[in-house]
Amino acid sequence: MTIAPAVAAWFRENGRDLPWRRPGFTAWGTLVSEVMLQQTPVVRVVPRLEQWLERWPTPADLAASPASEAVRAWDRLGYPRRALALHAAAVAITERHGGVVPEDVPSLLALPGVGDYTARAVAVFAHGHRHPVVDTNVRRVLARAVEGLAEPWAPNARRDLPLMESQLPADEAEARVVSAGVMELGALVCVARSPRCDVCPLLDRCAWVGAGRPEHVGPRLRTQARFEGSDRQVRGLIMAELRASDVPVRAHEVEAVWPDAAQRERALAGLVRDGLVTGTADEGWELPS
Ligand code: SF4
Repeated sequence: MTIAPAVAAWFRENGRDLPWRRPGFTAWGTLVSEVMLQQTPVVRVVPRLEQWLERWPTPADLAASPASEAVRAWDRLGYPRRALALHAAAVAITERHGGVVPEDVPSLLALPGVGDYTARAVAVFAHGHRHPVVDTNVRRVLARAVEGLAEPWAPNARRDLPLMESQLPADEAEARVVSAGVMELGALVCVARSPRCDVCPLLDRCAWVGAGRPEHVGPRLRTQARFEGSDRQVRGLIMAELRASDVPVRAHEVEAVWPDAAQRERALAGLVRDGLVTGTADEGWELPS
């Protein structure tokens, strides 16, 4: 039994009113939102996304700004390499596609920093094409409702995409609603810990519930590593220092952000390697131009 009709009906009633779901939201906005949402929760993305699109409503607007401004505007969304990638994508869209976000998955995939998930998400949610789109939330719903497993497997395109494809209606517009609906169901109801089966539209057809909610067998997927004390935290502190300064940040100022010299040096070297920081200890450090 397909999960599509019940998910679509539930989503039409219960889907959150989010900027990227509103009529008239641009394909560029969808691309920006998908990149921001990759590793940042919705509540933190929405205000930053609105500011971003107000400042850079088109790819050409962002392409005309220095990459350092994109990194600065990224602020505390985390994983700031995404800001550099978005800037590079804006330049590529402007130069190769006349400023119009491409529609087909191969052209989207050819953009800097755009991976398979993002390319599919933009093709589906911005342009209305019919493709399976599978993120962590979707994989969890498929694992439970369709495969009868307590926990999802690790991302695996050869397993994920045909499985989601088998659940999509033939009609493009309806397939888009189902894709958004499965994602939303995984975010709000079929959550990782304590799924809310009592309010789930799939309760009567969920394979996992039907099988008596069997326990997960085997190792669990790794959850995100601890942030406190991590190199990620040190990178974030260095980036905050650089974002707040219009002039190169001196070595002693970088030293003040974190006491462990080895960890600080490792974090700084990683930022330089990723192209997020330029400069030298003598001349000071700054965001890329
Ligand atoms: S019934 Fe429970 S386990 Fe099954 S899809 Fe719904 S929330 Fe997930």
